[in-house]
Amino acid sequence: MQLYQNQHLKVYNSLSGKKEAFKPINEGHIGMYVCGPTVYSNVHLGNCRTFMSFDMIFRYFKHLGYKVRYVRNITDAGHLVDDAEDGEDKIAKKARLEQLEPMEVVQRYTVDFHTILQKFNFLPPSIEPTATGHIIEQIEIIKDIFEKGFAYEANGSVYFDVAKFNKTHEYGKLSGRKLEDMIANTRELAAQDEKKNPQDFALWKKAEPQHIMRWPSPWGDGFPGWHLECTAMSTKYLGETFDIHGGGMDLKFPHHECEIAQAEASNGHSPVNYWLHANMLTMNGKKMAKSTGNNILPGEIFTGDNKILSKAFSPSVVRFFMMQAHYTSILDLSNDALLASEKGYFRLMDALDTLKGIDTGKTSDFKVADWRQECYDAMNDDFNTPILIAKLFDAVKHINLIKEGKEQLTAADKETLEATLHAFIYDVLGLEGKTDTGAGTNKLSEVVTLLIELRKDARDNKDFATSDKIRDQLAAIGIQLKDGKEGTTFSVS
Ligand code: AMP
Ligand code: ZN
Repeated sequence: MQLYQNQHLKVYNSLSGKKEAFKPINEGHIGMYVCGPTVYSNVHLGNCRTFMSFDMIFRYFKHLGYKVRYVRNITDAGHLVDDAEDGEDKIAKKARLEQLEPMEVVQRYTVDFHTILQKFNFLPPSIEPTATGHIIEQIEIIKDIFEKGFAYEANGSVYFDVAKFNKTHEYGKLSGRKLEDMIANTRELAAQDEKKNPQDFALWKKAEPQHIMRWPSPWGDGFPGWHLECTAMSTKYLGETFDIHGGGMDLKFPHHECEIAQAEASNGHSPVNYWLHANMLTMNGKKMAKSTGNNILPGEIFTGDNKILSKAFSPSVVRFFMMQAHYTSILDLSNDALLASEKGYFRLMDALDTLKGIDTGKTSDFKVADWRQECYDAMNDDFNTPILIAKLFDAVKHINLIKEGKEQLTAADKETLEATLHAFIYDVLGLEGKTDTGAGTNKLSEVVTLLIELRKDARDNKDFATSDKIRDQLAAIGIQLKDGKEGTTFSVS
């Protein structure tokens, strides 16, 4: 008997706009595809939020006993600058600017992506396919769409005929847009535009002579359109219809809408039963994005080397901060929010330590079995991690009352409580214990703060030998002190 047989999960399906009972195609098995990063720059904390939301979802499915095939791709070709239909490939542009091979760019930022995700304690997906590794499959899908009459060639490029598709299918059903409105809101095609209509999107783009990322095809040398890789890779590894497709909210249109159109045009099936979209991380109220400069890199948070936060925060604290918001809500990053999360995270971890040492009694003042089910109820309600965390803090309150001798707990309940806390804190939320969290731990902060105070005392007493010794010896072990108007802060390298 697996847990999923007793737990009734509901998920918010962006396609229907409703919370629906979750029922996989094959009992006990789940196929999940999540759009991965475009590896042309360091992954920023906003990207991490989306991937972390799906890591938590993957973890909960596994915890429930499902066998999950989780496919998260790497986009290493075909994604053009500004998500446009024309222009330069993001990776090729970076390669040109840095005088690198495109595959050097891909390698550098794939390694960065994996390193950061490992620090955040992500579980690896089951398959991590690349767009360039699936050019043949993409060409096959284009041929198929051609045969079905939903694609046309123009000057060595191939476009999807949205207007024709919309006559027999519904283009816009995921994003809630109507083709007529899209037409009304777009300008006329420019004279040199080779598309029949502005809404048409590229399946294959002809490579101009200077374009370095190119492959042969029946239509000449070129490269695949951005939306096609996800259709090719999800179909190959999960089938023509699979359970879950995820990604950030900003991918709903056009990316996911085009994926639906491509799949329906080529094989006649709706590709996905449940579309899940994670909401954005903002900073100063604006979407975190590479292109606008409104972003922070995870590494800058772990070391404290940034102009936004007062100190370093560990990966688990940042992860806890993310989990305190529902994955479909916007979350704003701020110093105060991270400080509050750090406090909460330590309170939770301290309670786990406390629980280990408490003596058990003859009766329980805390209804552990009911509480355990409430934790599941929270997660079963579209992965409601903020409610789950509130439940975990209910347990913390009782643990502290038991420690003070004001309540008691039977040995059996203690065991259930400990096992449930471990399952949700470590397995589902993916947090790590205090000792594994490196730079941002409270203890380190407290020790460095004490040394900063001692250094200030030494300077006030004109004992510069001591103050320099403190600064230099901290620097030697990778802790930099920075003197500023507001006092001294530190970063860890
Ligand atoms: P990209 O590398 O640009 O293809 O984006 C990778 C993923 O990060 C996509 O699923 C985006 O939706 C997601 N993403 C980009 N910016 C943010 C943000 N500020 N907050 C959350 N997710 C984001
Ligand atoms: Zn995708």
